[in-house]
Amino acid sequence: MQNFAVIGHPISHSLSPFIHQQFARQQDITLNYERVDVTAENCTSWVRQFFKQGGSGLNVTLPLKETVLNIADVIHTRAKMAKAANTLWMHQKQIHADNTDGVGFLRDLQRHINLTNRKVLILGAGGATRGILGPLLQSGVHSVYVSNRSDSRAHPLQTDFPAVHLVPWLQLEGSYDVIINATAAGHTHSSLPLQSDKFSGKPFAYDLSYMRNADTPFVQQCRAFGWESMDGLGMLVEQAAESFYIWHGVRPDTQSVLQLLR
Ligand code: NDP
Repeated sequence: MQNFAVIGHPISHSLSPFIHQQFARQQDITLNYERVDVTAENCTSWVRQFFKQGGSGLNVTLPLKETVLNIADVIHTRAKMAKAANTLWMHQKQIHADNTDGVGFLRDLQRHINLTNRKVLILGAGGATRGILGPLLQSGVHSVYVSNRSDSRAHPLQTDFPAVHLVPWLQLEGSYDVIINATAAGHTHSSLPLQSDKFSGKPFAYDLSYMRNADTPFVQQCRAFGWESMDGLGMLVEQAAESFYIWHGVRPDTQSVLQLLR
């Protein structure tokens, strides 16, 4: 049987085993998919050992998405652009690394809004923003603005993605078609410094974070402003589907799995 796992720290919350088992069932594939708590300290030896023992593929989550690039022999373009990887596999005795977050994000977001000529504001400049920026900038949007709490992450991001415009964190105002929360603020139940009267029109709000049985704080905040809002559960399923495609060569049906999760 083929062995897969998702690694990260913490990992007990991960929905990836459920999602991949659902995809596998659709395709009549039998596989083993586990959650494994792996820290940055033991990541390299664990990953090497996994593939040495015949492991087929790994998904990678916080805080290991950058660390695993040092282990990969072949880094695919999307992972190079993001400087982070969430999907690993072995091919011809080489460890390959790719990043499916960006394409997963775009597939889900485009179900809700046509991005052509849209003005987009992203809140946050961490690994997830790096993952989504490449595909977003190529999606036909008019322009992309990024605002981050600290400059230490915002400036290097703009160096790597020169097309991005930076917006000071405490000057969140203006006219945007789409506002994306790519911060981890929801994890600590912190609210973001957004005021609806500082924005003209009603942007579509998308939160990369998700909660299974409740609206995220960002979704709640934006709905209270009267803005249409969506969380990132769909992105989670779509990025998993792209990993599944890399590993098995077939595209699973994502919407039925998303419905099960909701
Ligand atoms: P990182 O740790 O790399 O970056 C975190 C970002 O959040 C930084 O920009 C940080 O700002 C900001 N931040 C953290 N706390 C606060 C706060 N209280 N107020 C304002 N900004 C804050 O995380 P990721 O980029 O990897 O992940 C970001 C979010 O995206 C997470 O919630 C994650 O779960 C989600 N995600 C969802 C996916 C999906 O499939 N739906 C896939 C990947 C990520 P600073 O630089 O100032 O510290």
